[in-house]
Amino acid sequence: MATIFDKIIAREIPADIVYEDEQVLAFRDINPQAPVHVLFIPKKPVATLNELAPGDEALAGRLVLAAAAYAKREGFAEKGYRVVFNTNGDGGQSVYHIHLHLLAGRAMHWPPG
Ligand code: 5GP
Repeated sequence: MATIFDKIIAREIPADIVYEDEQVLAFRDINPQAPVHVLFIPKKPVATLNELAPGDEALAGRLVLAAAAYAKREGFAEKGYRVVFNTNGDGGQSVYHIHLHLLAGRAMHWPPG
């Protein structure tokens, strides 16, 4: 099912895009939970982590590597950051197109809420 992120990929609605390659798009979260809050998504629509299939290893890995590269580029890799994949209801997922949340710019707490 199409989500708001498909519209961002298709440039049908605006987003503050910070990174793009053939398979990955990254843009600032509209409701940031930290000074840096960027979402890394695959251009291929996959609803949740549960729908990742054999063959998607590289795609999932690209999200993580793109986030780490962004952290290094932006200069907060050493200080630290958090990545999160919310999954389904208990995980707090609201958009059913997988996305890696990259949060940085403040100390994170544990356990998360
Ligand atoms: P989830 O709750 O599914 O893990 O995260 C979805 C995220 O997408 C939320 O943090 C929410 O603020 C963000 N979001 C929802 N709609 C839009 C949008 O239209 N543009 C952007 N940039 N972020 C969005």
